[in-house]
Amino acid sequence: MKLSKMHLKTLREVPNEAEIASHILLLRTGMIRKLVSGVYGFMPLGWRSIRKIEDIIRQEMDAKGGQEIHMSAVQPAELWMESGRWFKYGPELWRLKDRNGRDFCLGPTHEEIFTDVVRTDVNSYRQLPLNLYQIQTKYRDEARPRFGLMRSREFIMKDSYSFDKTYEDLDNSYDDMYDAYEKIFTRCGLTFRPVEADTGAIGGSNSHEFTALSEVGESEIAYCQNCDMAATTEKALCVDAASEANVAELQLEEVHTPGTKTIEEVSNFLKMNQNQTIKALLFVTYDDNGDENGYVAAFVRGDRELNMIKLINALNIPEHAIEFADEAKMAQVTGCVGGFTGPVGLHDCKIVVDSELPGLKNLCAGACKVDYHLKNVNYGRDYKADIVADIKMLKAGDPCPVCGAPVKHARGIEVGQVFKLGTKYSESMGAYYKDENQKDQFIVMGCYGIGVTRTLAAIVEQHHDEHGIIWPMSVAPYHVIVTLVNPDDKVQAEVAEGIYQGLLREGVEVLLDDRNERPGVKFKDADLLGIPVRITVGRGAVNGQVEYKLRREADKEEISSDDAIARAIKMVNEEK
Ligand code: ATP
Ligand code: MG
Repeated sequence: MKLSKMHLKTLREVPNEAEIASHILLLRTGMIRKLVSGVYGFMPLGWRSIRKIEDIIRQEMDAKGGQEIHMSAVQPAELWMESGRWFKYGPELWRLKDRNGRDFCLGPTHEEIFTDVVRTDVNSYRQLPLNLYQIQTKYRDEARPRFGLMRSREFIMKDSYSFDKTYEDLDNSYDDMYDAYEKIFTRCGLTFRPVEADTGAIGGSNSHEFTALSEVGESEIAYCQNCDMAATTEKALCVDAASEANVAELQLEEVHTPGTKTIEEVSNFLKMNQNQTIKALLFVTYDDNGDENGYVAAFVRGDRELNMIKLINALNIPEHAIEFADEAKMAQVTGCVGGFTGPVGLHDCKIVVDSELPGLKNLCAGACKVDYHLKNVNYGRDYKADIVADIKMLKAGDPCPVCGAPVKHARGIEVGQVFKLGTKYSESMGAYYKDENQKDQFIVMGCYGIGVTRTLAAIVEQHHDEHGIIWPMSVAPYHVIVTLVNPDDKVQAEVAEGIYQGLLREGVEVLLDDRNERPGVKFKDADLLGIPVRITVGRGAVNGQVEYKLRREADKEEISSDDAIARAIKMVNEEK
């Protein structure tokens, strides 16, 4: 492709809202184009890289026996009602009506649709196992679309679904997909970690997220350097503090603690450690119609953080059915007092207590009375819970839930996730097969997603410098850029054209920068666009010499144009 002909508009300035490198660089290179918040289009270079990621995915899916199909993004509400997710998915689900008032949604994911295909087409155990996938546009009306392709409202996802006879077979399908994902993200040039994950709105039993390590990532992961424990902090189990069952229970005592609304204030005031206190968090919950249906008070040790995902799982409600409570309003019903709420004497609200609190003795908690706390609060004697569960966050330095060594934290971008669904969808939607004895059995399912557009952003996040993108060869929009310094110079133009044609003949994807621009502009653009190999044709052309430079290295070399062609071909074939 000749740059003089290409539809390319690079930008010097980008909108303020672009805060992270991938968003800034994808806009500056003109690879993506914003339409409205969270909705982007792709210009020629951007679309080429997207297709490369898709091709890598296709090759690895096909290698595991996956079969590509393509279903519509428009999905009838009836299927979502069958699975029970029409409500459960909440406001992220992009709902619409047709002219007759019939409900539809734009698919955020396709479990219902694929289950429907298979329950219709598959009858016999002979037709299983089956692995179907698609690469398709998804819609999620995200509360906070941001960071460009990272969290958008329209995005491209590869989603696969496996259908097996037994749970053992599902284990094999899951391992296959896990293996394929490791290959895909490696080929995309990403540094990543697979970690255990929560199953969220998709459901099922086991799950792993594939996290591309990055400081700007929204996923937080906890891992152990001593063993192979690695999990999202949402999912990571916590070790409870050692039980103090043998410690004598002291008498409950009310103390005046004026103005001490936070754990820090009250522990300073009473000269005790934060781990001798109880922290309260108050929530309101909503029913299927979005009406308030109750209050929840969650209690963790004062020095701990509440883990919202664990709380939601303990309550067995969807994420959008709970919110922080208006304390004044909640106080009228439950007797709680903002900043001074404790578990003793609370009424008319669900009490969820972290799993370590029952084992701890003589803690300090709010007295449900302004400016007062209670000392020597003990579980069982002074308060009880509706639910006792691990609802705390695993923090860096806490003991590893597997081996006890201090855990570390890292941030990352979730580029893919795999789930063992089991029979969640086949039971709710009636997807059976007939076994060898002609008996109906539920099909056992798994599902596996990759954010294709988010993967593109993650690659840029991990591969750039202050001058621009540094594409790994495998996903670069073009492999080589030939920079023609002076298009008016006949010799230079001929040499450049010769290299361009020589590379094209060998199947190398090559750009020829033949624009009438100053050399400085061309070099800047080449760096910005991040094409892995740059061959510069300038003054040396009269002697058959050109400059050979890799985007990822600082050094340049003067070599003959034949050598430059040979070297580029070799490198592209090794790395593409
Ligand atoms: P997140 O926790 O980031 O919201 P998710 O866990 O809800 O993502 P999945 O349902 O697992 O996402 O979807 C599969 C993949 O699709 C994710 O691993 C991610 O790469 C991608 N993805 C999900 N939501 C978005 C989005 N809003 N924009 C871009 N990619 C997304
Ligand atoms: Mg996910």
